Amino acid sequence: MARNSETDELVPPDRTLLGPGPSDAHPRVLKAMATPFVGYLDDYYVEVMDDVQELLRMLFCTDNEYTFAVSGTGSAAMETAFANLVEPGETVLVPSNGYFGDRMGQIAERAGGEVVTVDAPWGEPLDPDDVAAAFDRHEPTVFGFVHGETSTGARQTQIPELARIAHDHDAYVIADTVASLGGVEFRTDEWGVDVVYSGSQKCLSAPPGSSPITFNDRAVQKVHDREEPVRSWYLDLEGVWEYWGAERNYHHTGPTATTYALREALRMVEEEGLEDRWARHRRVAGALKAGVEAMGVPLNVDDDHWLPTLNPVQVPDGVDDGRVIDRLMDEHGIEIVGGLGALSGDIFRVGCMGNSARPENITHFIAAFGSILA
Ligand code: PLP
Repeated sequence: MARNSETDELVPPDRTLLGPGPSDAHPRVLKAMATPFVGYLDDYYVEVMDDVQELLRMLFCTDNEYTFAVSGTGSAAMETAFANLVEPGETVLVPSNGYFGDRMGQIAERAGGEVVTVDAPWGEPLDPDDVAAAFDRHEPTVFGFVHGETSTGARQTQIPELARIAHDHDAYVIADTVASLGGVEFRTDEWGVDVVYSGSQKCLSAPPGSSPITFNDRAVQKVHDREEPVRSWYLDLEGVWEYWGAERNYHHTGPTATTYALREALRMVEEEGLEDRWARHRRVAGALKAGVEAMGVPLNVDDDHWLPTLNPVQVPDGVDDGRVIDRLMDEHGIEIVGGLGALSGDIFRVGCMGNSARPENITHFIAAFGSILA
């Protein structure tokens, strides 16, 4: 029997997305998703995949052949990196200074790795001396770090030094750039990072679901040389490359809408210019930082490892962070979020990513935040 639909048409509320992601999608990206779908091996779709790979090389600052988009969110890209690079019994070094470094450890453990940590306080980057000491002590084969730690708003600095330490020990380096790629300088080849992954819904302002990743030849060789197959069928690089590599054979169905959207978002990065885009994020987030500081509310990170894409604004004494967050949403349609884990209740996390990183959004936020705190 036909059912009279009681489910309304989708009409999402107006929001300004200034949280840790997703950011506001650009109308051009939304339009790309409404483009007619073709088959996942149609010549047209194969060209779209070629475009995405070429544009991703520009975004990652790499010449790596193995550069593509994982069908899934940033965590699927994280899992692709660790599941392929880590063989059971290998020692994996991860940071303890944030929520996503911790997730790296959980994923590495599922891949059969023996996880050890290098410590830094939440809100501070890893110190290369501590990383070197951890290498001497544990001799890991894989070392992961988070470039932009979304839980704290700290940016990992001195990346070429970290890569050099790992390579001196014949180890491989994986970088998480989910909250930074396309918003903050990252140079895969020049800095010597073996595997780098990201997400689509933050600094690229595409929908979540097609996540950039790149493997250099050395990392690909490690995957080819594995003794035991990768424990994930879906994320196994050898299988996925059947589709994204020259063969273009079926492995899984390409997610058409998010791939179209990613292509459009990457076209917009190319039009703006990657370095100009980094500068825009610094400029717009700089206005946000100056605005809250002028109210006597500092950020919870030092300037030298400030992450423009995620600003940890200290919760002033006596202020109920949850109430401020709710009022920003209810009265102004602005999304920000609170602290996680060790920083819960101590910071507001204000994102400044991709298409959300616009001066008018910062003016809107500063006026609303100021009126609530007043
Ligand atoms: N890594 C970092 C630094 C993140 O900020 C996030 C998400 O916020 C992830 C990984 C996981 O990405 P996703 O939530 O898209 O699976």
